[in-house]
Amino acid sequence: MSHELQHYLPLELGLYQSITRNKENNSIFEPYLSNPISTQFDCHCIECKKESTFKFYKEGKSTQYFMDYYSQIIINKINEKLPINFLFKCQRDESHVFYFTLLIDEDKVIKIGQYPSFADLQLHKINKYRTVLKNDYRDFSKAIRLNSQEIGAGSFVYLRRIFENLIEETRQIASGQNSNWDNSIFEGSKMDNKIKLLKDYLPDILVENRRLYAILSKGIHELTEQECLDLFPNVQLAIELILDEKIHQKEKQMKISSVKSFVSATIEKFKS
Ligand SMILES: [Zn+2]
Repeated sequence: MSHELQHYLPLELGLYQSITRNKENNSIFEPYLSNPISTQFDCHCIECKKESTFKFYKEGKSTQYFMDYYSQIIINKINEKLPINFLFKCQRDESHVFYFTLLIDEDKVIKIGQYPSFADLQLHKINKYRTVLKNDYRDFSKAIRLNSQEIGAGSFVYLRRIFENLIEETRQIASGQNSNWDNSIFEGSKMDNKIKLLKDYLPDILVENRRLYAILSKGIHELTEQECLDLFPNVQLAIELILDEKIHQKEKQMKISSVKSFVSATIEKFKS
């Protein structure tokens, strides 16, 4: 049994999201419900602060116990509609845990608990953007927290604001570097055209897919809660692309200036 499918319940199924168990998807549940001791998955460990493997923890019970009794205990819990807990331990340090709880009502499976939260698992990924985002970093992490709680419009407002701030920062760079820059055309444009006008200063992929971000010009009241949730990952990616580019430019500038100062210092040294 591949460990790939074992990712789904702990890492992909959202909190309070229900999924119907059927023949096709049974392999997602099967390892957890009949033979949990073999279950494991790779995931960011919030204590190690890096990727680790989490393995099912037997809580001192023997393998034989699980072989003999586990599936019966699970059946009883399902019959009585009792929550089923799964505890996993980080392979680097046993005090680092991952925990989730399922409630199974016949063929309906709901995840009713999880630790660490989706937000905590996500937030480490944006840590590298802290310095380039400056004041917007708080809003970025807030957006991710809200989105992981399925709050669509609320999370989207923050993300849209950060995206617009980044576009505005890029506009300032463009108008500073380009003497033909016409601000009035830019200000009167929708997001689609703004991105096009900044095409030399933004990542290509963002420019090519700019129609997606045209939606950002819409008022938040024009979008449904679900539309906001669906848009979120793409807008987040677009923001990260712009930020990656900024980090790259910053590193490049640092290397250039360090080479420059080395060269001038060396020339000075040989002059004397
Ligand atoms: Zn760990």
